[in-house]
Amino acid sequence: MKVLLVNPPRFNGIPVIREERCEITERYSVLEPYSLLQIAAELRHRGHLVHLVDLNGFNLPYNRLVSELKRISPEAVIFRFTPTTFDWDMKTAEIAKSIDGEIKTIGICWTLRTMHEIVMANAPHLDIYVRHEYETTIPNVIDTISSATELNSVKGIAYRDKKGIGVTHDANSLFNYDSLPLPAYDLLPNLNPYFVTAPAGKPFTIMYTSKGCPFRCSFCTVAGTAWKPRSAEKILEELRFLKEKYKIRTVSFFDETFTLDRKRVEKICKNLIEENLDIQWYCNTRAHLVDRDLLFLMRRAGCTGISYGIESGSQKILDYCDKSLKVEQGKNAINWAKEAGIKTFCSFILGLPGEDWSTINETFKFVNETLPTSAQFNVAVPYPGTRLFEQVKKEYPRDFDFRLLYQDDAIVGTESLSPADLNRARKMAYKILYFNPNWWISNIRHVMRNPKDLQLALVYALKIADNYLIHGMKHAH
Ligand code: SF4
Repeated sequence: MKVLLVNPPRFNGIPVIREERCEITERYSVLEPYSLLQIAAELRHRGHLVHLVDLNGFNLPYNRLVSELKRISPEAVIFRFTPTTFDWDMKTAEIAKSIDGEIKTIGICWTLRTMHEIVMANAPHLDIYVRHEYETTIPNVIDTISSATELNSVKGIAYRDKKGIGVTHDANSLFNYDSLPLPAYDLLPNLNPYFVTAPAGKPFTIMYTSKGCPFRCSFCTVAGTAWKPRSAEKILEELRFLKEKYKIRTVSFFDETFTLDRKRVEKICKNLIEENLDIQWYCNTRAHLVDRDLLFLMRRAGCTGISYGIESGSQKILDYCDKSLKVEQGKNAINWAKEAGIKTFCSFILGLPGEDWSTINETFKFVNETLPTSAQFNVAVPYPGTRLFEQVKKEYPRDFDFRLLYQDDAIVGTESLSPADLNRARKMAYKILYFNPNWWISNIRHVMRNPKDLQLALVYALKIADNYLIHGMKHAH
């Protein structure tokens, strides 16, 4: 089959991240559509003819999609969409159908996987909604369409046919993540547009070394999903390729919990040290899944930044949301990383059940004590399919419009705090960090010890000024 993969354009000029657990607008990051590159590689491997256009990355308008559709004449168009950019992203399907009504339009979105009926009702030009496990589902969908068989045997989808809307069971996870071919980077003209948080350290890419997370945090859309690791050998193969082909300098391992398997991380680090690829990398993980020795090893292997989901400085809130983390473990993880020379990016959520001003003050105290290199302060978002969603639905019965699920604008409060209070607390949190002279001193010290980070520090300081003073911390962190 001839397939066109589309990353839709930016939303009101703001870049959009359309990757599984991270389906959001983010003013200061432009990520390549990694999951579409994975899909492209797998479809090619199965003999399909694949094209890709990254309108978001290269900041191109929908007009470009029109010309690509006319040039390529695909039989299927596959794109990702997010809750808050839903109507905008769905124009992809509408445009495809307007050019050729026979094109199969296939949309992927993880966050709305439990709301397939509402998705299909709101997306009249969408033929197939891939709501679960795109790695296994998309190849099955395309193989099924190309063999002209019924879609009801394909797991993980909702679909429209002459009889109405059909929905199938959840799909199986990809059992062997190593079996995926190298993502089809060649479908991108270059890696020039891509960066995370601030445009430094390019060429840059994101990369999954594993997917999924077995932990059960009540607010998280990937909680309790199967962990699918890639082997150290496969990871090195991709990094080697990126170094040779693109002279890559920075990689963000986009996994939810990079250090879940300590032995695997040790092996990756040892291989990186032996090969001396000179790639700096970032990763995300849980604070209790690191220790001092591991962080020093990671630093030697090129890790220069680590993202921890700290969520709260209050043990009560951490316990209520089943974070399975002690406040002390968060503090240790930040301090050890700093000792190792690794920058710490910490995310916090304001407004989880039980939150009041006293617990918010505990979070502010935590931030003041630990001074992470940078922080994201989000308001709690009741994403469908999470336990938080169920709790909120019970306590605040009302209809949700998924288009309003922003992490920077609360739609629900807690028993003690209104959504307006939470938005205010969010701004206060940024002020507490950015206006703390010790935070500036600590970051200046870091740059003096790590002069390679000077460019990043400068663009980051400009970003803070732009974000705080001009954009009021909207659509960004
Ligand atoms: S540890 Fe992180 S990825 Fe895993 S369930 Fe909790 S918030 Fe989600």
